[in-house]
Amino acid sequence: PAPLPETPAPAPAAQSKIKISSRDRVIYPESGLTKGELADYYAAVAPIALRWLGNRPISLVRCPQGRAKHCFFQKHDAGSFGDDVHHVDVREKDGSVEPYLYVDDLDGIMACVQMGTIEFHGWGAPVADIEKPDRLVFDLDPDEGLDFEMVKKAAQDIHGHLADIGLTSWPLLSGGKGVHVVVPLIPSAEWPAVRSFAERFSRALAQSEPERFTANLKKVTRKGKIFLDYLRNQRGATAVLPYVARARENAPVAAPITWTELGKLEAAKAYTIRDADKLLERATSPALQGWGEAEQTLPDL
Ligand code: ATP
Ligand code: MN
Ligand code: MN
Repeated sequence: PAPLPETPAPAPAAQSKIKISSRDRVIYPESGLTKGELADYYAAVAPIALRWLGNRPISLVRCPQGRAKHCFFQKHDAGSFGDDVHHVDVREKDGSVEPYLYVDDLDGIMACVQMGTIEFHGWGAPVADIEKPDRLVFDLDPDEGLDFEMVKKAAQDIHGHLADIGLTSWPLLSGGKGVHVVVPLIPSAEWPAVRSFAERFSRALAQSEPERFTANLKKVTRKGKIFLDYLRNQRGATAVLPYVARARENAPVAAPITWTELGKLEAAKAYTIRDADKLLERATSPALQGWGEAEQTLPDL
């Protein structure tokens, strides 16, 4: 076979005009990682993260005093983020219109980090048309104590079932306990249809393999199983975005991987914010080319 073309080295990290204060503040007490180190991580990966993080409504997990102190999930702007964090008006169920947040460049990311943000979670739809999802996410939530092997197998099986109906999907390590199976979509169907697809797909799977899966929201039904959280795919819901640092022990990162890599992994946490260089190098490697990309729409189920 012909050798694969060489991929260009990632561009050096750009400078942000946003000034990060209290760089020495420890925000991961178990490993001593600081706000400055988190900021440097985000500055380094911004060129590869913006493809996913940019131009979609986001919610933030902010932990101003570090991950071990009070953290909160923020959906709307209270006016404190400055001009680099933008607004998109979203009509809520009750008819009110709320300004949701989005960023579209390095400064936007850094402005959030300066405000104590650790995690960025995104809608499955772009700001350009928030009613039409451009991705679907199967969030696999294993019951407490369940082996990673089980999660892995579940993700692989979902990958297979999706392929059977003509859909390409990719694994994302959540940085937590689970794996997300990401299905890119050409924006065309609206939220109700996408949610309905995710729900029917998840329920069918739970019905055919009730020992392994549940799509039931009630926690008591999850004993020893993997919960298929199809509600990640309803309007207004968010999922963690690729390259986002988690506010969890030792600063794990949500990381795109290949199906082959998933097969070889022994634990859910493979990368941390100390791995920016590795993640940048991987992002331009042949194996990850095309990760998260596919020109496809949902079939009729
Ligand atoms: P894990 O692999 O450990 O499950 P995860 O990112 O999938 O990691 P979940 O607990 O399954 O975490 O949460 C799923 C999603 O729900 C999150 O990615 C986030 O977008 C959203 N979420 C988390 N906390 C809140 C919250 N307080 N309010 C609303 N949505 C939230
Ligand atoms: Mn901007
Ligand atoms: Mn999850």
